[in-house]
Amino acid sequence: MFLDQARDFSYVIRAISVMGLTTLGLLFFYFRHNPYGFYRNSVLLGLACIYTLIIWHGWRWLRRSDASGADARRYFRVACGLLFGLGVLWGVLVILLMQTSPAEERALLYAIAVGSISTSVLVSPPASAIAFWAPMSLGALLSLVLFNPDIYAISDLLAFAGLTGFCILYLNRRMNERAISAIRLEENAELIRLLLRDFEENASDWLWETNAQMEMQPASQRLVQVARRPAESLRGRFPEALLGEEALRDSLPGSALDRLRQAIADRAPFRDLVVPVVLDGEQRYWSLTGKPILDRQGRFSGYHGVGSDITRQRRQQEHISFLARHDSLTRLANRVLFSETLSQFCETAHEAGFALLCMDLDEFKAINDTLGHAMGDALLVTVAERLRSCIRDFDIAARLGGDEFAIIVLTTDIDEALAVAGRIIERVSRPFRFDGQTLQIGISVGIAMAPVDGSTPTQLLKNADLALYRAKGDGRGTVRVYDPAMDETMRVRHVLQTSLHQALARGEISVVYQPIVNLVDQRIAGAEALLRWTHPERGNIPPAQFIPLAEAGGIMEEIGEFVLREACREAAAWPPELTVAVNLSPLQSGEARIVPLIAGILKSSGLPASRLELEVVENTMLESGSPTEETLRQLHRLGVRIALDDFGTGYSSLSYLRRFPFGKLKIDSSFIRDLGEEDRDDSIVLTIIRLAEQMNMLVTAEGVETAAQAELLRSYGCAQAQGFLFYQPMSGQDFARLVASRETASPRRMPDGV
Ligand code: C2E
Ligand code: MG
Ligand code: MG
Repeated sequence: MFLDQARDFSYVIRAISVMGLTTLGLLFFYFRHNPYGFYRNSVLLGLACIYTLIIWHGWRWLRRSDASGADARRYFRVACGLLFGLGVLWGVLVILLMQTSPAEERALLYAIAVGSISTSVLVSPPASAIAFWAPMSLGALLSLVLFNPDIYAISDLLAFAGLTGFCILYLNRRMNERAISAIRLEENAELIRLLLRDFEENASDWLWETNAQMEMQPASQRLVQVARRPAESLRGRFPEALLGEEALRDSLPGSALDRLRQAIADRAPFRDLVVPVVLDGEQRYWSLTGKPILDRQGRFSGYHGVGSDITRQRRQQEHISFLARHDSLTRLANRVLFSETLSQFCETAHEAGFALLCMDLDEFKAINDTLGHAMGDALLVTVAERLRSCIRDFDIAARLGGDEFAIIVLTTDIDEALAVAGRIIERVSRPFRFDGQTLQIGISVGIAMAPVDGSTPTQLLKNADLALYRAKGDGRGTVRVYDPAMDETMRVRHVLQTSLHQALARGEISVVYQPIVNLVDQRIAGAEALLRWTHPERGNIPPAQFIPLAEAGGIMEEIGEFVLREACREAAAWPPELTVAVNLSPLQSGEARIVPLIAGILKSSGLPASRLELEVVENTMLESGSPTEETLRQLHRLGVRIALDDFGTGYSSLSYLRRFPFGKLKIDSSFIRDLGEEDRDDSIVLTIIRLAEQMNMLVTAEGVETAAQAELLRSYGCAQAQGFLFYQPMSGQDFARLVASRETASPRRMPDGV
């Protein structure tokens, strides 16, 4: 920049010099008759020499000047000296001529002096201008003061010289400022150029630009690489040329492409719009940011912007959001995604109904706990695959947690929903192999139809759950469709659960005893204590109905303790050979304090441990909070007999019989019912009896109702039986009376004593 200034300076002072030489020529002729010819001519010659020197010096410097500007400073210094000399000689010349000239010539001289002073305004920098202006102005002033002391002329000269001096300083300062800002601008532009080049070379992003007609400007190397296309194909209209026609063809309203189009139409800026592109048949994603460019007049002159390939980040994001909305084990939708989807479907349920299927695996916990989590996981994965195979692509299957699944089947036809459920039950229950073992699991299904059975997710889920609950209650591996009556059942359940809390305190809960007889001599061997609840309004409520409520309501321990105390207290008064059997609920038997509790009850009632039998159901050992092997052993060590109740109905495994210290097996009444009619049941019962014999366990057959059943059981070698053929359950008093009166008598049927 300094160099530029020096050049301008050189041109200006040389032009002034040419003009000055011409003026000198004119003066020489005009004042040739003046006295002091020698001095005048000497000064004129001196001036001419200096002007020539200025022209020559400038010309020489311009020829030799290099880009560094180092010699420009020296040039300035010399030129300043020459200008000063010029100013001094002009001053002297004016004084000389003013002294000897008549009045009319003085006016010309005055005009020439003023003109010469004014030329200094053209010179920059100020030091060089002042070098000329100061001596010249001083000379002119002296010439007036000494030889033409006219107050007007002097004032005018002073004002003019003052104005010129001010202009020199002011204009030069402005010019300097402008020069500095121009330098800064240039530096900034250079910096931006460098940064952009660096960006293009190193960053993964790329720049793009269009002209006012929205035509893409030549693509950078980086863009050509990213777009995997030759640079020529990236010419043309934006964004078609950049993204390809097909990418834009099916852009949906509101999509990023649509917003891009809209922004361009409005000549508006846009930021981080993620648009899909197909590169060599591969789906990729670009993020585009763009800004309209306006020229000085505010007219649109194109767009420039930056783009980047964000396919990797997008895939990672998709993966993360997939994980957040899917179950990592089965890859089915999780509860979050399912709830969202269900809400969406509910919004349009009145136009397009659907079926909601809620499902739950039967006895899954048993498998998980006994066979390990790896097996449980493998089972869930298989179940998920089977569920998927039962539905169409547009139906939605989800794992809601644990062994709970749900499916939205897009149909309004209940038969179709039932058909899907049937298929699910059939396919899920097929055996599957894992790690060398073959397993089987059942699934129960509850169905609610939208919008008939509900139009909100909460309602539908609640109703499908009710149906599922009913399916489970009706014997697992079944499907039930929601029916408004189920709500009533739930309501009753709720009412009962609330009143059950006070039932014990109000004495509504009692214990009855069903005699157990020896099949050989028909003598009473003992009795099983069974709970009864006599509700003030609803009458007798069977234990199968209220025990699950008590368990769910957390009062089963209390009730269980009550039965134990009652049974032991009553049995202590019976003849010493009679035993009493008490059922243990799974929750109750899982309690750590059950062993000291029973020991305490036996002690306080005075009943010998050998006369107490504790009945546990097979599944008890598998359910949550189930007694550990150790608890059962401790009870066994107390001298109490442990009986396995309802044998054959649960998750049977011979390994339990070996591992746990059972003293008795109770064959479930379902096997006894068809005894003598179903060969299969006969052989099962016979096998159980043989097995028990070999393992030194007593066998009791439950639910014996006919003499034929009793006879057959006796012939199989079954030791004991229990059932309506012999006795109904009866109150403790009745039982005590019965045993007292029947020391030797044969059994007879009695009505239920409660
Ligand atoms: P369970 O332990 O298998 O009891 C035998 C059930 O069979 C009793 O039903 C009894 O009345 C019934 N029964 C006996 N003989 C016959 C017969 O000839 N034909 C038919 N159809 N049924 C017969 P109940 O009293 O209704 O008890 C049902 C179940 O409730 C019991 O089955 C037991 O699992 C549970 N339960 C009863 N009392 C208690 C208790 O104090 N604690 C626990 N945890 N469970 C109990
Ligand atoms: Mg029992
Ligand atoms: Mg039983």
